[in-house]
Amino acid sequence: MEETPRGLLKRLFGYDEFRLNQGDAIDHVMGGGDCLLLMPTGGGKSLCYQIPAILRPGIGVVISPLIALMHDQVNGLVQSGVRAAYMNSTMNYEEFVQVSRAAMRGELDLLYVAPERAMKPSFMDFLSRISLSVIAIDEAHCVSQWGHDFRPEYLRLGELGRAFPEVPRIAVTATADELTRKEILSRLDLNGGKVFVSGFDRPNIRYQVVMKEKPKKQLLDFLRGNHRNDSGIVYCMTRRKTESIAQWLRDNGIKALSYHGGMGAEERRTVQERFQDEDAVVVVATIAFGMGIDKPDVRFVAHLDMPKSLAAYYQETGRAGRDGLPADAWMTYGMADVTGQLKLIEMSEGDERYKRISRQNLEIMLGYCETTDCRRRSLLSFFGDSCDVPCGNCDTCLNPVETWDGTVQAQKALSCVYRTGQIYGTGHLIDVLLGRGTKKVLEAGHDQVSTFGIGDDLNERQWRSVYRQLLAMGVLSVVSDGYGGLRLCGDSWPVLRGERRLSFRVDEVKTSEKSSRSSTSEVSTKGSSEFDGNPLWEALRAKRLELAKEHGVPAYVIFHDATLRQMLELRPDSLDEMSCLQGVGFKKLDLYGMDFIEVLKSFEI
Ligand code: ADP
Ligand code: ZN
Repeated sequence: MEETPRGLLKRLFGYDEFRLNQGDAIDHVMGGGDCLLLMPTGGGKSLCYQIPAILRPGIGVVISPLIALMHDQVNGLVQSGVRAAYMNSTMNYEEFVQVSRAAMRGELDLLYVAPERAMKPSFMDFLSRISLSVIAIDEAHCVSQWGHDFRPEYLRLGELGRAFPEVPRIAVTATADELTRKEILSRLDLNGGKVFVSGFDRPNIRYQVVMKEKPKKQLLDFLRGNHRNDSGIVYCMTRRKTESIAQWLRDNGIKALSYHGGMGAEERRTVQERFQDEDAVVVVATIAFGMGIDKPDVRFVAHLDMPKSLAAYYQETGRAGRDGLPADAWMTYGMADVTGQLKLIEMSEGDERYKRISRQNLEIMLGYCETTDCRRRSLLSFFGDSCDVPCGNCDTCLNPVETWDGTVQAQKALSCVYRTGQIYGTGHLIDVLLGRGTKKVLEAGHDQVSTFGIGDDLNERQWRSVYRQLLAMGVLSVVSDGYGGLRLCGDSWPVLRGERRLSFRVDEVKTSEKSSRSSTSEVSTKGSSEFDGNPLWEALRAKRLELAKEHGVPAYVIFHDATLRQMLELRPDSLDEMSCLQGVGFKKLDLYGMDFIEVLKSFEI
């Protein structure tokens, strides 16, 4: 009898059930259909093309932009007993010939290639001489010219469909906003294909946004309070900042490395490898870091600066907790982030449409930061997914936001913008409201305007918060010259005329707080750090590291933390019992099962 997708899932990968839309997408591709699969990072997209590639006759070709990761990806598959190989520029001629021969003889299930190679006439010719089971396009959002991962070679991938019309194609990505989705379908010529969107919720990630006060100290407190021995990523806007923050963390005893696009390829690869292979490495990076990071046990993603869109934010934070264990997405943000982003948009070379979309993205991002509602709910609604009840695992759920009626203060803040000519930024406006006779105020004659000194009901911090929230609500706009001046807009007037009341969130005054994890039903609340110091746990990890070194693969390729935890809890004492654990397929059982059983036995009392 032929093996079913589910049978293969258990035999090779050691999992009992498909997740999300995996089963449906696989059936569709097995039947020869094209599709676009949108699933969050860590959702399990790879299996959706790997399983059809293995079960259908012929070889599955995977177009992937991540040359640096191909080696690990293919290694992981080989460890599970899949006949996989890659072709990329890191190989020498002999290796090349070897892989092509294996493909010609039908001895491969999966072949990974970079997009620039895929479109070469010689490679197309090669493809036409082997039998293909599926064509998979990984990180399909790289086709989008609006995204930061744009890869020009992706624009030509539609040709594959025309060259091999009988081979099913599956494009996968974790970026799911409407615009990108449409672009992928049209540019990859997938318009007849089915779209599978699944569960963008990542219940194990706790979302938190804090006001930027002393960002470095806030970051350090967050790391010390919650992630002493964990791997994680800290995102910053600029290259220079990644370096200075990494240095500062190192000075404070944290194993931190910086990563950005200005570094040499070799240096970048080293950072990526250390992150994947070592324990508790923190990478401080620009957005250049991350696409295709395959590490399942990233315990936190921190943003020191606000990302430019909610889609980018979600993708970046999605790199945390792919193993399903608790993880944090933590961000500090302040007004300067907004004006800084706006400045970048104005200075960019994009056309008016690009700028308009960018400004819109920024507004949505800002709305997320300032929301008084459940963060998860606001994220999911952006992706067209719903979430009926507050999630219980974000900062606004855990510490419900207090609000206050700020109608009068909003009127003062808006009139001050109007009276001073609608060109100044918050610093100056607040000086005027607080009646400070600074040089700039005096020179502009703003000690004479009617709003001078009318703001002593709030302090400077509170006025900043009012301005930020007015912007987030769309009741105030930024002058589009990139200098961060504020101006009124259509929605300002009802407030000024007293026709609309506004309430604001009370900003947390505390700058740092060790967040206590409350349990929710779906999420296992035990982080792996909970077992730190447990001798059996340490012994299992030590065994894993030893095997990883011996086989030249990252530790998680041997077994995930989640599998080790099951060993700890269930104490399997035979290969049969071991094979029931999640993540133990036949090949890994054979390769490593006994090693771990021996460790477990040595701890029996
Ligand atoms: P992505 O969607 O980011 O490409 P991957 O395909 O790398 O995600 O899968 C993320 C992790 O989830 C992998 O470690 C994979 O082995 C695991 N996984 C995938 N499918 C399942 C499943 N049905 N059950 C349990 N774990 C799964
Ligand atoms: Zn919530």
